Amino acid sequence: MASVETVRGPVELESLGQTLMHEHVFVLSTEHVQNYGSDWWDEEARVADAIAKLNSVHEKGISTIVDPTVWGLGRDIPRMQRIAAQTPLNIIVAAGLYVYEELPHQYAYRGPGLLLDVPEPMVTDFSRDITEGIAGTGVKAAFLKFALETPEPSPGVERIARAVARTHVETGAPITVHTSGPHQTGRIAVRILREEGVDLTKVVIGHAGDSNDLDYLTELADQGVLLGMDRFGLDLFNPTAERVKTITALATRGYAGHMVLAHDANCFIDWLGGAHDAVRPAVMPNWHYEHITDDVLPALLEAGVTQAQIDTMMIENPVRYFTPGGAA
Ligand SMILES: [Zn+2]
Repeated sequence: MASVETVRGPVELESLGQTLMHEHVFVLSTEHVQNYGSDWWDEEARVADAIAKLNSVHEKGISTIVDPTVWGLGRDIPRMQRIAAQTPLNIIVAAGLYVYEELPHQYAYRGPGLLLDVPEPMVTDFSRDITEGIAGTGVKAAFLKFALETPEPSPGVERIARAVARTHVETGAPITVHTSGPHQTGRIAVRILREEGVDLTKVVIGHAGDSNDLDYLTELADQGVLLGMDRFGLDLFNPTAERVKTITALATRGYAGHMVLAHDANCFIDWLGGAHDAVRPAVMPNWHYEHITDDVLPALLEAGVTQAQIDTMMIENPVRYFTPGGAA
């Protein structure tokens, strides 16, 4: 039987169970913590808090989270190993790069035709994460991530997108793209990935659920991709009631097989600095791992989405995404 790599090693796909397809454990810059974090970052307390939160969502019936925290968001696999050892939840981790505009200097001078004329180093690095493991930990990435936030991708962002696509072609690993709902950058993702020969059924258009434009969403889904209805609780981008209405409309039109669910939540995000604990519950009270189980699924059922359609979105689509090989 096919399996998927998690922080604790391979897990049979059939045992993934209910899966949240886009959650972070921490979004945390190492440089930020090392230089300005002494007031607000307590490693032991935050790790314990994360374990408690992950165990709590597991008790609610979620078996797996898919964590696209790559370079740019603070990937730290040794810390994830500590956490994964103390929760039954499966955690699937990623390779890739999260930037909106500027390529990191660490890749700017290395690559085909550059100062150091070598094969694309991002493909080398991402592929190693998938085939050998990340940073000597033995933990393997099971999917790839990049970001398309601006209406027109910068040359650096486009280079990252194509490096991710080529890594997919080499390794078969599926892809999640951070896209902008307002700028409808899912279209750009589909164009670039198609040009590179990516199997579009292995692509999640992340944050598609920030949009309620059914023409945009069905146009994407009709090309084979999965729509990431994955920011429940981030009401400032799109309130829960609107997200529920959009999913219901899509499910009614036969698109349950093209949607996955999540919150894009985390246990701590250093973008809020020391104000995190004060600001977050006040401004984003539902932005946590249990909002879908507690509130969204009952609302979907109430709106007419069937339990079978929920199982498709939460269990079957994630399994298909991580199943090696072509379209099922
Ligand atoms: Zn995210």
